[in-house]
Amino acid sequence: MIHLPDPFPAFDWSSANTFSANALDRCSNLRTDPSFVARSFEDPRARLMLFYGDRVLVTDGDPPRPYLTGDALDAAADAATASIFLGVDPDGVPWFAADVIEAPSPALVASLVDLRTLALEGRAEPSVFGPAAQARAMLFWHHRNRFCGACGHPTELAAAGYQRNCPACGTQHFPRTDPVVIMLIADGDRALLGRQARFTPNMYTCLAGFMEPGETVEDAVRREVAEESGIRVGAIRYLASQPWPFPSNLMLGCLGEALSADITIDHNELEDCRWFDRDEVRAMLAGDHPAGLMTPMRIAIARSLIGAWVAG
Ligand SMILES: [Zn+2]
Repeated sequence: MIHLPDPFPAFDWSSANTFSANALDRCSNLRTDPSFVARSFEDPRARLMLFYGDRVLVTDGDPPRPYLTGDALDAAADAATASIFLGVDPDGVPWFAADVIEAPSPALVASLVDLRTLALEGRAEPSVFGPAAQARAMLFWHHRNRFCGACGHPTELAAAGYQRNCPACGTQHFPRTDPVVIMLIADGDRALLGRQARFTPNMYTCLAGFMEPGETVEDAVRREVAEESGIRVGAIRYLASQPWPFPSNLMLGCLGEALSADITIDHNELEDCRWFDRDEVRAMLAGDHPAGLMTPMRIAIARSLIGAWVAG
């Protein structure tokens, strides 16, 4: 059985994950007011996250900052797409995001860093990763929705970036995120972990997969685990979520109880999958497994799920 304390603790497991904590007030009730958005952009403290694909412009400094302000913001805004309003931080500073339209200059390329690298380096302030995930997912959505899915006509940005409207047929398009279930399946004192061939050698992690339309989180967990490992899953508990901006996923972290033990690996999905006892997983987390096996990088929610399970 999966035991959770009663009463359920107030600790928010989600907020501990990279890309999860986002202190911006998104001001969704003000987005449709052009004067509010324009005033916010004119604020001399305003910040602009400038992206080129999955990479963000990072300015030198300690800590490095993945946003522009002041004159640099003004200059960049001229060479960028219409800005998306992200929100206002606790100090009242408005944040925006935009894409570089043209191929960037070599000087600009040298300052572009992909979000995964930025997070792994651990030098930027933790508070920037939530807004960065929001920005990356929003910009990706705009890229993929430049034409109306109903009639094919070019769409137009509205609501400070939170909507695209079709002037031909009137359809309104809204941003989306793609939910992915990721789960630590336990059989008593053993955890089910697997690896894909493309993973870092020796790295094992939780099974995961995209949710499908018309499916509950629980059914998605049971289906994915059964497909990839042949293990049947009973009780499931949601633990935490994490925006994962590669490009716009929402990871839904769950714990699940195995109802069977014999593994049948789907080799189209996984290179290997097996049971690991708690001591072995503890050694993998600590980096002193005798065979050099390891858990995922610390910015992944899988690492949190594995850690929570090991800690009991
Ligand atoms: Zn249309």
